[in-house]
Amino acid sequence: MYPISSNSFINNPYTNNPYNQPQQYYWQGVYQPYGQSGYYEQPAQDNTDAAKTATMAGILQLIAMGLQKASGWFSTKLAAGKEFTSAANVHHVADEMVRKNNLNVHVGYINDVNKYAYAQHYNLGNQLEEVARGQNAFFTDKLKLAVAPERKPSLILHELGHAINAKNVFTRFLQNTRRYAPYAPTALLIANSLFSDKNDGKKSFIERNAGVLGFAAFLPTIIEEGLASFRGIKAAKKVLNNPSGLNILKKNYLLALSTYILAGIGLGVASKQTILEDSIRT
Ligand SMILES: [Zn+2]
Repeated sequence: MYPISSNSFINNPYTNNPYNQPQQYYWQGVYQPYGQSGYYEQPAQDNTDAAKTATMAGILQLIAMGLQKASGWFSTKLAAGKEFTSAANVHHVADEMVRKNNLNVHVGYINDVNKYAYAQHYNLGNQLEEVARGQNAFFTDKLKLAVAPERKPSLILHELGHAINAKNVFTRFLQNTRRYAPYAPTALLIANSLFSDKNDGKKSFIERNAGVLGFAAFLPTIIEEGLASFRGIKAAKKVLNNPSGLNILKKNYLLALSTYILAGIGLGVASKQTILEDSIRT
């Protein structure tokens, strides 16, 4: 599924990972030599380090909350976005995208009446409820199905962009990384415990770069999302010969992409939080 909305971000357990352990000062378990005497003592710096870590944790939590708020704002804006052209025009562009790219994909415009038949035929449970309400659209390669709300048909052009991406080895790979991206914080945690020497008193590569690495795990998804939108915009531009409302479509798709960028930053923050939390425990 490739929802255009940011629900995946909102529901991501990692972004909802409240840093609400009681703030405890910790012993790093690292004793530094004191002088030349061979007498070991907790370094004087330690309380400062603990305070720094606690401050960092607080800042990260604030950023995570801010990201959720921002993502919600973009989603609301997106839901309120206007259609860039008539439904008939959108259907025409969609048909052309299917035809020119030889897509073996059924295109469905979901409303409150046909949602039941679609749900039954494709065994989709209640996944079309949001679509019928105008709040989601998706493409599934497994079911060879692309759906958009009947009241917001323009979302289908982005979904067909995903369908085109699924036909190319490289973009299909980008598409598939999405499944694994949410495991980035856990994967980094495991990698850090396996490969870093915790007794040398220095921060490991993963500890220093957890945020960037977490974001990097989501970057293929962001690129593939952007490419899907680009394909939709390109088709609309060509088939409708530069429609006057094209900027509306671009704006809507940019809002959608913003939620994915925020989700990527969210994953970076969650990765950093996970590693930081681990450094407090051990
Ligand atoms: Zn998408």
